[in-house]
Amino acid sequence: MTEGSRPITTDMDSALALQIQSVSVSGTNFEMLSTTWSKMLSIMPIECSREIIERPDQMFLERNPAAFQCILQYHQGGQLHMPSEMCPSIFQREMEFWGLKKSALSKCCLVKYIGYFDDQAVLQHGKESFLGILFNSHGIECDNNFIKI
Ligand SMILES: [Zn+2]
Repeated sequence: MTEGSRPITTDMDSALALQIQSVSVSGTNFEMLSTTWSKMLSIMPIECSREIIERPDQMFLERNPAAFQCILQYHQGGQLHMPSEMCPSIFQREMEFWGLKKSALSKCCLVKYIGYFDDQAVLQHGKESFLGILFNSHGIECDNNFIKI
């Protein structure tokens, strides 16, 4: 021990424990500094924060734990990456829930994210074009979700 340093006491441990926030995300437990949790709450939409259930020693919310892990790392000073196995549309919902914009994504994942939504737009356009051709050439009545012949 160097001169001037103080021994770690149990009082200090309990003081530190008060600064740790426990959060259960659909049953997966996370612990973080209270300041990190406050930072997360400060940017999330108010209507989303109403979904958080306060227990005596833990917060609970029913969200995707894999996405939460990534969002937590971002708030802990890291970069925002999507879980590799997660569909970008699911991650989009989680980002919106936590008040994050796509611009927060790191470049590597932003490319994947934008690519996914570009592909979806092309697919949707292709579907509409296909239905349009059917409608025009065969007089098929098209209603959003089903086709009447
Ligand atoms: Zn990435």
